[in-house]
Amino acid sequence: MNPAFAHATWPQIKAALAAGPVVAILPLGATEAHGPHLPLNTDVIISEGMAQYAVPELEDAGVAAFILPALAFAPAEYAAGFAGTISISASAAKAVLLDIARSLHAQGFACLALANSHFDPANVAMLRDAATEIAALGLKVAFADFTRRKLAQTLTEEFQSGACHAGQFETSLVMAARPELVDETARRSAQDNPASLTEAFTKGAKTFEQAGGPQAYFGFPQQASAEEGVRTYELLAKALVTAVREQLAV
Ligand SMILES: [Zn+2]
Repeated sequence: MNPAFAHATWPQIKAALAAGPVVAILPLGATEAHGPHLPLNTDVIISEGMAQYAVPELEDAGVAAFILPALAFAPAEYAAGFAGTISISASAAKAVLLDIARSLHAQGFACLALANSHFDPANVAMLRDAATEIAALGLKVAFADFTRRKLAQTLTEEFQSGACHAGQFETSLVMAARPELVDETARRSAQDNPASLTEAFTKGAKTFEQAGGPQAYFGFPQQASAEEGVRTYELLAKALVTAVREQLAV
């Protein structure tokens, strides 16, 4: 089965739902500045990759899954000072998520899996809220929250340091999935920026500039590689699959 939900016909969806439990995976991204070298839709690419790596593993566990069209808009105020960033309110983003969940629930989907790679604190807080409210609707929701220590510890050292926006971690993921969208000249001249975004968040920084990222990146883009990207997709997908299996008890 082709996992792209948007490419299926309605009889195909109907047949899948009749055959057994079906998970809908929603890739959650942003349209946001990601350094001088990565595209605005970096988080969409990463979340879609996470979903694509998860589907075969879910199938191995006997769970059918479709990948929904990604949500490309999210709260992204930290990057609002950079050209190209489009930030929407948390309330608007949550309302869309809840409406999608209601629709899936009414059709008989067994679980909504949230594949998120946009770690803006306002977005993460919104997703935690939304997950609680979706569960209250009666739809199982699987949310692998990589900002929680337990999952963060499974990812790379740079990610755990908090210097994790358009650095080695994200750049590797884009190089693995869409290398043609990486500006290699800009990547190779991006100097190391070890400033920790997550530490800056806790100290009250409200923008990337205040957090020490005048070019909208943190970390070490020059260290990135497609090989690291593949390894990280496997880790991201594993966490998502675990979250789904916990929800469905399979
Ligand atoms: Zn990102």
